[in-house]
Amino acid sequence: MFNHFSLNLFAELSPVWVWCFAILAWDFGFYWLHRFHHRLAILWAVHIVHHQGHHYNLSLGVRNSWYSSLTSIPFFIVLAWLGVPLTVFLSVSILHYTLQFLNHMSVKPHLGWLEKIFVTPTHHRVHHINDRTYSDSNYGGSFIFWDKLFGTFKVAPQEPYRYGVKGDQPSNNPFIDSNRPFWRLLKKGASATAVRRQYYASAWMLMSGAMLLFALVLGYIQLYGYGYHDITLTQIVLFILLAGGSIALGGISQGQRWGVFSWFLLTLTLWLLLVLGLGWTEIFWQLTLSVLVLHSLSVLCGWGRRVTADV
Ligand SMILES: [Zn+2]
Repeated sequence: MFNHFSLNLFAELSPVWVWCFAILAWDFGFYWLHRFHHRLAILWAVHIVHHQGHHYNLSLGVRNSWYSSLTSIPFFIVLAWLGVPLTVFLSVSILHYTLQFLNHMSVKPHLGWLEKIFVTPTHHRVHHINDRTYSDSNYGGSFIFWDKLFGTFKVAPQEPYRYGVKGDQPSNNPFIDSNRPFWRLLKKGASATAVRRQYYASAWMLMSGAMLLFALVLGYIQLYGYGYHDITLTQIVLFILLAGGSIALGGISQGQRWGVFSWFLLTLTLWLLLVLGLGWTEIFWQLTLSVLVLHSLSVLCGWGRRVTADV
């Protein structure tokens, strides 16, 4: 990616700034890759291995699925695309992963003001409690402020707790542990290993989604709604996608999993088809379609979504 497709944004910049950017951007990427690994069943099948350990100590820090490095690639590749050199990326990765490893130690020293900036064992142990209400929080790798910024920060409960994944007994065989989650996914469908969730989008998310879709409908009418002309394939496809959008939004408003996913697929398809495929680059289509993709991504990631767990 760096050699062939990089935007090379940092070629002129002083190395100090490249390092500062890389340190922050790496952890930002990690926060989202971690959050996605908890939210999407296929990625949870990879990440669950890290959560299965019953003992909170350094061994947990190196307990990972065979596939965890592979599924991290899409989130870090952005750094190469922007122009972070490979040597800087590797050094920064080592720095972050060392800190993350140490964050799994069983002692929890009080680190004062450092706890406000960095993830510490006190923060990260909450993430390993065998209750999804707690483990679906504190996703940060090295910096704790991402969680505070994106509303996923939690402190440990007062009552005693255990570590691990509820209802899951880890094996001692790495082959079984790395592959069994996928087997379960295939057998029982997408909700087997992740907690079954009721999807909930706030009224604000629903309304803004509907208004954006309505803007597209107005664009459609402006293009096709006046005078007589032959019906084209583009018009039919666009019509179906716009109608589908209202069905997806209906699904989201009823808390349906398929609503959230089809809304994302639909907005992405619209963007790919119209902007990339047909080259509709007028500011109206570009702007509305990209904001729509961002909107559906936010719904997918859980902004405006309350999660009620009922295993
Ligand atoms: Zn995790």
